[in-house]
Amino acid sequence: MVLVAEEICVGCGRCEAFCPEDALWVWGCLEIDSEKCTECLNCIENCPVDAISQQ
Ligand code: SF4
Ligand code: SF4
Repeated sequence: MVLVAEEICVGCGRCEAFCPEDALWVWGCLEIDSEKCTECLNCIENCPVDAISQQ
């Protein structure tokens, strides 16, 4: 499961742009749809502040 640390996320939207499944979106804070997420880890690799992690 991919989770975001909301206290670290700066809302830049980079993860949203890199998600091939449209599984996450930034609307105030970052939301991740675990039903759509295939755990490709693109978002983790492209977050500039390391706010996303795999649990
Ligand atoms: S792990 Fe991949 S599919 Fe899942 S939210 Fe991140 S970029 Fe999207
Ligand atoms: S790339 Fe990182 S900092 Fe930017 S919106 Fe996504 S989780 Fe937040």
